[in-house]
Amino acid sequence: IFNFCAGPAMLPQAVMQKAQQELLNWNDQGVSVMEISHRSKEFIALTQQAESNLRQLMEIPDNYHVLFMHGGGRGQFSAVVNNFLGDNGKALYLVDGSWSKAAVEEAEKLAGKDNIDCINIVDTVAGKRQVSVPDLTKIDKDYRYVHYCPNETVDGIEIFESLNSPWPVIADMSSNILSRKIDVSQFGLIYAGAQKNIGPSGLSIVIVREDMLALPSLTQSSIMDYRLAVANDSMYNTPPTFAWYLAAEVFSWLKSVGGVAEMELRNIEKAKRLYQCIDQLDFYVSGVAPQNRSRMNVTFQLTNSELDSKFLAEAQAAGLVALKGHRMVGGMRASIYNAMPLEGVDALVKFMTDFAAKNA
Ligand code: PLP
Repeated sequence: IFNFCAGPAMLPQAVMQKAQQELLNWNDQGVSVMEISHRSKEFIALTQQAESNLRQLMEIPDNYHVLFMHGGGRGQFSAVVNNFLGDNGKALYLVDGSWSKAAVEEAEKLAGKDNIDCINIVDTVAGKRQVSVPDLTKIDKDYRYVHYCPNETVDGIEIFESLNSPWPVIADMSSNILSRKIDVSQFGLIYAGAQKNIGPSGLSIVIVREDMLALPSLTQSSIMDYRLAVANDSMYNTPPTFAWYLAAEVFSWLKSVGGVAEMELRNIEKAKRLYQCIDQLDFYVSGVAPQNRSRMNVTFQLTNSELDSKFLAEAQAAGLVALKGHRMVGGMRASIYNAMPLEGVDALVKFMTDFAAKNA
């Protein structure tokens, strides 16, 4: 089966097989990794290795902290506000789809609407959605940060260029972290819910520049406080140990297959083959302009939407599962994260080509 689910999503088969073997006896401890103390030297060694591997994979500079926190992607919607918008601070939110909009709603709830400005950066040109970021340097306002989502999982929109911003940039990379090379030094903070390219849901990865921690915070719960997380090596309270273990395994796997540079090449090829199929057959249509087509979440419609259920049923029977688009946008969505092999995309392309021929 090839699993095209948007998240929780397919994880590398080699990692899952190793996890299965180790489930009842991790690291010769005689118990599973879920059953040992997070303060044991064995578990601490695991966390150090995980951090060191992630630092290598993403080339994270030394003035950034790496945190393993609770609460997934949405947890960070509130954490960034709570940690940085004390003393009536203001923030700018760029909206390019459903998740960045959800981040705005959370920010407004916590900081008040007056403290959150918001700009829609998606236009529809000739029936296709595309992103145009305004020149942020021309905005004469003082923001604590600008928040955006470089890959909108639901909408299938990805922003490849970096923001030219006078304020620290905060990015929700839940669905494209580790999928391509990025320059971490351009960000004040990067966060990601783990359940796409990293591991089990519930865990979130936070990469935060040291100077950001000096910004005033709102009164907030201790478990979401970045300063406490830094001071306690992400163990202020009991961390999600199994999720952390699996993330560590995924980082090791990524290194063993050539790191982020190799992943990027594979992801470019996978996305190219799938979008080519969509563009070449009149049967399918993409609503996103080529320059903003996500490499991770390929959204498309059947030109005859009456065939949607048939498409999904036959795809499922062919072992191609979870292709239904998000309930908010409909249509189809093939999520092709790092763990999706090229063969999975080729199988989908063949299925789509045959389905189009049979139903034309
Ligand atoms: N941000 C993005 C880009 C997402 O794709 C998701 C979930 O899929 C979230 C945030 C929310 O993550 P969570 O469900 O872990 O809170």
